[in-house]
Amino acid sequence: MNMSEEQKVYKNASSKVVIKVVNDACVSAATCVVFAPNTFDLDENGIVYAKEGTWDEAEEIIKAAKSCPTTAIIVEDLDGNRLYP
Ligand code: SF4
Repeated sequence: MNMSEEQKVYKNASSKVVIKVVNDACVSAATCVVFAPNTFDLDENGIVYAKEGTWDEAEEIIKAAKSCPTTAIIVEDLDGNRLYP
């Protein structure tokens, strides 16, 4: 096992949450994209990233994070409190 826990952090001026993605945990299942299509997309390598522009509501983002089979998406509020997982 050589799983790096490196996280990419995404912020959005219009969103109440901060998204962290554990790239190495993403298995390209894309259920997060189904739940929050205005927030998540997959890059050319099939790894999730958070898009520019207006994100989905925080609830949808949390639903998307919950849908991820590998818990690759971490959601925090703007004070750094964990909302999920
Ligand atoms: S649901 Fe999880 S594993 Fe699937 S694309 Fe989204 S972050 Fe990656």
